[in-house]
Amino acid sequence: MTGLVIVGHGTRSAAGVDQFAALVERVRRRGDVGDVEGGFIELSRPPLTDAVGALVARGHRALVALPLVLTAAGHGKGDIPAAMAREQERHPGLSYRYGRPLGPHPLLHEALEERIDAALAGADRAGAALAGAVQADTVDRAGTWVALIGRGSTDPDANAEVAKVARLLWEGRGYAGVEPGFVSLAQPSVPAVLERLRRLGARRIVVAPYFLFAGVLPDRIVAQSAEFAAAHPDLDVRVAEVIGDCDALADLVRERYAEALGGDIRMNCDTCAYRVLMPGFADKVGRPQRPHDHPDDPVGHHHHYGHDHEHAHDHGSVAVVGGGPGPDDLITVRGKALLDAADVVVVDRLAPQGLLAGLRPEVLVVDAAKVPRGPSMAQEAINAALVSHARAGRRVVRLKGGDPYVFGRGHEEVQACVAAGVPVTVVPGVSSAIAAPALAGVPVTHRGVAHDVTVVSGHLPPGHPDSLVDWAALARARGTVVLLMAVDTIAKIASVLIEHGRAPETPVLAVQDAGQADQRSVPARLDEIGAVAAREDIRPPAVFVLGPVVALATTGRTD
Ligand code: SAH
Repeated sequence: MTGLVIVGHGTRSAAGVDQFAALVERVRRRGDVGDVEGGFIELSRPPLTDAVGALVARGHRALVALPLVLTAAGHGKGDIPAAMAREQERHPGLSYRYGRPLGPHPLLHEALEERIDAALAGADRAGAALAGAVQADTVDRAGTWVALIGRGSTDPDANAEVAKVARLLWEGRGYAGVEPGFVSLAQPSVPAVLERLRRLGARRIVVAPYFLFAGVLPDRIVAQSAEFAAAHPDLDVRVAEVIGDCDALADLVRERYAEALGGDIRMNCDTCAYRVLMPGFADKVGRPQRPHDHPDDPVGHHHHYGHDHEHAHDHGSVAVVGGGPGPDDLITVRGKALLDAADVVVVDRLAPQGLLAGLRPEVLVVDAAKVPRGPSMAQEAINAALVSHARAGRRVVRLKGGDPYVFGRGHEEVQACVAAGVPVTVVPGVSSAIAAPALAGVPVTHRGVAHDVTVVSGHLPPGHPDSLVDWAALARARGTVVLLMAVDTIAKIASVLIEHGRAPETPVLAVQDAGQADQRSVPARLDEIGAVAAREDIRPPAVFVLGPVVALATTGRTD
């Protein structure tokens, strides 16, 4: 039977850890989900790596990993999969199916209903100053408002889930009303939602934490509710227990396990901020997910960032972003989203400069301009700047022209980040190698005309001892050649190509400043391009495209 690893986030609350362990034990005792272990990704023991290690040691190579979270926010969507990815690196061949977050689910609604009723009945048994009898079976729901308090997240979809749970809890249960609120990171806060209910005329309010287990945040809900109650002695404010270790939760774990095994995972992706650009959440689109550093993890290293809530995710990172050939709107959606969220932008001269005007005023822009023949910021200095800003916790975008990996030295920057242990991601871009010809009306391939296109750097002339290009082979080939960084070397390149067999009349197009207002293109035969480029004063940035496709050029600009 496929092993199950139940993955918790971890908490500073000993009671919360005990409840988690009790639930794992309850699931194990039932014996209907095979081999079970539980582990945490941070703060608490046992760490996830021990739980997975135990299952692997017992022979499991395929697991179900179930995130024990109510809503799919950063932990469920990012941190836990990232931690599992690390386990897969540790145990080559290990595979796992990832279970869905627990809520919303009728079992959870029933558990919440029980906790709310218990709060009503319990207070009555304790002799609270409440008019009228309140028994578990006859609780006065019509006179009771519920404030359902979720954890709160920077993920709008997770917050929306809490609102949905509140609504479903209200439907058909006869409460005066159920309003959602959040204890951290989202509004309305606990005092705000209580004040809202007071103004709606509530006399009795049950604050129901939408939490699985005890923890710092549920404790905060109790404290904030007590404070509000003290300020409003005319109100009856009670706080229900968290859901806790119970049969309903074990039932739900079993259901999620079966669902994962059956491959029928119906995660709600339509409104996921990591997929879809939501207003105000551009920084999340496509954001890479990284494992938490766990204090008990022998591989990870632990940082303290002075978090003031249970934890934050403000670790620095670098995105090496291809900005496209120049126009502001030829960057990718992902690249633009990362740029919008950046704290620091390290920019090249050929990157789309117009995008800088749209950055928030507090963004630090570092000019890494490497002007040909002019002063340059050494690559090592750029690498060092990327690493140091990221280490200071900033989100760094390295904005480059075209595609970062097409003669962009992008991979040197990625390697520097990897070597420094800084999380780094690459966002491809529209390369001038393809785009400059296209913007001048030349398709680099065309059916029946060219089946190959070779992109070549002309920064070293043929015959240069450091050159890695087989110019003779390029001369013999029949397809398209696109030359970048070749303004100074085009005459020499053209003559070597002819010398080795390219036809002198092969059409060539020089395209300068592609995509810019002053874009221009100059046509010539291969045997004349050197002289024509000099006479016409072709200057960088320019590409030369040569081959039969050039004859197909549509006249005028195509952008
Ligand atoms: N990574 C970039 C290329 C960097 S090398 C990319 O993928 O586009 C720099 C060379 O790119 C320039 O010398 C020039 O040959 C070419 N180039 C970049 N932008 C250009 C533009 N807007 N028009 C024409 N050529 C361009």
